[in-house]
Amino acid sequence: MKGPAVNHAFGSAPSGIMEPPRVVLPDHQLFARRAARLRTLSENTPGLGEFLAFIASVVQAQQQVLETREPAWVPAAGAFDAALEHGMPPLGAQALRRDIDWQQDLAALLDALELQAGERQRPLLASVRGLSVQALDDLAEQVLDADPGDSGSRGQMPLVAAALQVAWVRLTRALPRPPERPTGDVYALCPCCGSQPVASIVHVAPERNGVRYLHCAICATEWHLERVTCTICHKGGQLHYLGLEDGDQSAFVARAEACDHCHGYLKIVPREFDAEADPLADDLASLALDLMLDEAGQYTRSGYNPFLIAGA
Ligand SMILES: [Zn+2]
Ligand SMILES: [Zn+2]
Repeated sequence: MKGPAVNHAFGSAPSGIMEPPRVVLPDHQLFARRAARLRTLSENTPGLGEFLAFIASVVQAQQQVLETREPAWVPAAGAFDAALEHGMPPLGAQALRRDIDWQQDLAALLDALELQAGERQRPLLASVRGLSVQALDDLAEQVLDADPGDSGSRGQMPLVAAALQVAWVRLTRALPRPPERPTGDVYALCPCCGSQPVASIVHVAPERNGVRYLHCAICATEWHLERVTCTICHKGGQLHYLGLEDGDQSAFVARAEACDHCHGYLKIVPREFDAEADPLADDLASLALDLMLDEAGQYTRSGYNPFLIAGA
């Protein structure tokens, strides 16, 4: 064993205690990584392969649109300073919805998808192209409110959601710095855009190893929440973890973090089981876990996945 570390002339060695960042904005390769994860999951998830492969192509198109399209509306310099200073979500989703030309993102997304879509998906793409500006705006409002809408248009909502995600991930780049971690009643709402989390994720990255973050369903911002705390009722001490008993590892990284105070659950995606796991993708691939818990009736799902909007 070596003796205690000695300070040398050029400063001291790191203490080993690194404060993890409280809020992390999405990086530029988010959609490319998510698409790759979805492709892997599509090959390993019985019964959901075709669905996950289609979502993978949507997410790949999101990456393409994010990289190539220049938006017409760009926020003014300093536009978000006041919100950041006062702890308000600077990219409030409903407030900005009419400013942002997300419908152009949708058109670009449909163009990119058109090239690779199968025969079965073409009618869906055509039906979204045929919607009026007003009808699209109504769907956007529902997506951003996590409102399931009516069953007739529900199939179109994931494409609208995909365009909104591109628009909001792009907007996070206009922020001069990440917002503060939310506190009080809104601790589980995205500090950037005010939307709900899709799931939580436990990282294996060096600066945030083992740290849990909630992952925003719309803008993909992540914010820290202590692992002992329920994401739904904010109480501690009554959490346990439920998974599917199945040999297929890659499909079932996600667990349900269930709380006996509020009888709700949110999926948690521990990257120590698979470093490629993604909150949105792994939530979709573990749909069987939701079905099992729904049948058992003990816990109610929380978490909003705009690619899987369920309703009556
Ligand atoms: Zn957000
Ligand atoms: Zn709870």
